[in-house]
Amino acid sequence: MYKWEENIRKVEPYVPGAQPRQKDIIKLNTNENPYPPSQKVIDAIRESDLDTAMRKYPDPTSNELTKAIKEYYGLEDEQVFVGTGSDDVLSIAFLTCFNSDKPIVFPDVTYSFYPVWAKVYGIPYREIPVDDGMRVRVEDYGVGEGKHEPNGGVVIANPNAPTGIALSRKEILEVVEANPDVVVIVDEAYVDYSGESALPLLMDHENLLIVRTFSKSRAMAGARIGFAIGSPRLIGAMNDVAQSINSYTKPTLSLTAAVASIADEEYFRARIDDVLKTRARTVLELKKRGFSVLPSSTNFVFAAPSRIDAGLLYEELGDRKIYVRHFNGEKTKKYLRITIGTDREMDSLFAAIDEIMHTY
Ligand SMILES: *Cc1c(COP(=O)(O)O)cnc(C)c1O
Repeated sequence: MYKWEENIRKVEPYVPGAQPRQKDIIKLNTNENPYPPSQKVIDAIRESDLDTAMRKYPDPTSNELTKAIKEYYGLEDEQVFVGTGSDDVLSIAFLTCFNSDKPIVFPDVTYSFYPVWAKVYGIPYREIPVDDGMRVRVEDYGVGEGKHEPNGGVVIANPNAPTGIALSRKEILEVVEANPDVVVIVDEAYVDYSGESALPLLMDHENLLIVRTFSKSRAMAGARIGFAIGSPRLIGAMNDVAQSINSYTKPTLSLTAAVASIADEEYFRARIDDVLKTRARTVLELKKRGFSVLPSSTNFVFAAPSRIDAGLLYEELGDRKIYVRHFNGEKTKKYLRITIGTDREMDSLFAAIDEIMHTY
């Protein structure tokens, strides 16, 4: 090690799902939407003044999109923070809200970016085990008679990832009410797929921050737009932190695309219904093949094969150009996380599983 390296910050980075660029693959590994974004999104980009969109800096306040989100959800002024994908929003939220020496808390099986942000920002954290059914127990977050150690904040993905299991709005309310002196972040990346949003709770709880993304249900992972909704005080603090790092983070064309997506509600709802139908079928087909499947409120299923090792199945599917996700943790290694694709893509998956199981 060189002397200068002693002053280098060393972190263990988050490992994102692979993004192979070939066309002839079936990509069920990062929960993207199998359907295209609304035609209105494509048209809005095509009709944009590309010279301005490229040559000029984007709007640092994301005013037009902020307004569209406010109107869509019926919010008050100053309740919306827009970021470069919800990973950016969450990262800014961690930096803004978790400035305490007490550990923040989140489940031990959840979005694996949370511990990475905590480490890079020097935020102490404690992981709270999910139960044997991979459920988050709200009692472990101070609800009811549960033992409650002081914490510096709470983060819950609801529905959770990679399990797909959702808490009810009532349970989220209980967690928020049990933790009035810290910020509670609820990451609702998948809530459009049948989860119950915490949005109605915002009215009475200024310490609640809800984080959403355009990457999944709105089929715009490549545009990198996410947002947070919270009290004006909390959103104001996040904007101050964000503007202390980088002013012009959201590309003009992405903002334009996001506004157009919100304007096409009918298309949005129809594609969610498509995914939910295919999800129901996928659960049945996997169960037929001996998988145990956790109850999903998302656009993916977390499923454990019974007759073959999950890691091996993951490899075999990869060899057939079907990409799913396998997390090698103690509690997760029995499972595969499988994104819901089109019906045709899922049929190819089932056929591949049959072929693989036949040889083992
Ligand atoms: C996909 C995902 C995100 C991040 O999505 P962005 O593309 O950065 O908006 C955040 N949280 C969870 C739980 C996710 O699955």
